[in-house]
Amino acid sequence: MQTVRGIGLWQSDDLPDWPNPACFVDESQDADVRTKVIEYLKAGEVTACSSYDWCRLCGAQLSLAAQEDGYYTWNTLLAHYVEMHAVRLPDDFIQHVLSNPTPIPYSLEAKYDQNRYDDTWWKSQKGWHDGSQVEIVPFRSYYDSVGVLWLTAVTHPVTAAQLKFVRRFSDFSFFSTLALREALRSGEPLLLQQEFHVTRVAEVAAEAAALGLTLTHIRYESREEWQQKAR
Ligand SMILES: [Zn+2]
Repeated sequence: MQTVRGIGLWQSDDLPDWPNPACFVDESQDADVRTKVIEYLKAGEVTACSSYDWCRLCGAQLSLAAQEDGYYTWNTLLAHYVEMHAVRLPDDFIQHVLSNPTPIPYSLEAKYDQNRYDDTWWKSQKGWHDGSQVEIVPFRSYYDSVGVLWLTAVTHPVTAAQLKFVRRFSDFSFFSTLALREALRSGEPLLLQQEFHVTRVAEVAAEAAALGLTLTHIRYESREEWQQKAR
């Protein structure tokens, strides 16, 4: 069976030895090739869904799914790096895309053959420069960008729409209507989620405000605090 090269797994606090996307940023790359690469990445067959990841360069939190074409495997965040941050991927991959390869459909056999994946090529990639000139704002890592989401005020009387909103948070999804109504009536702050990404706060807070709910988001001060409280 064809060996499938992993591409686009970036370094993080937990994976410090992996490639750094800042080193791959190249604003001078060929625009047509770049567009082609973005389209190719987006068109890859989705083979597995995981949860989400954050962009190492801008902190955006994006949902994440594995994709592959039978030769390479990447995830849905990789197109974001190329499109939003001018990341130029290694020449081997660019040549592969430009050769208009026919994708090999993802099979059941492939699914159960974890040995077909190879990360060694990707892990050895160093990029085009040391990355020091690339501005990374505003988050340095995932741990800087999550916080605790509290429900801190509720207008009365408690409405069905308010209950429905709170039930979206997993800790409350199985609460009985009676118990949840009591919790909202009590006026006590309600911990909605331990690990809520800052980029989603404005949207969810506006939605809550329209229902008469006030949300408060408090970021963790450090990775250590995050580990202690969120995990
Ligand atoms: Zn980004």
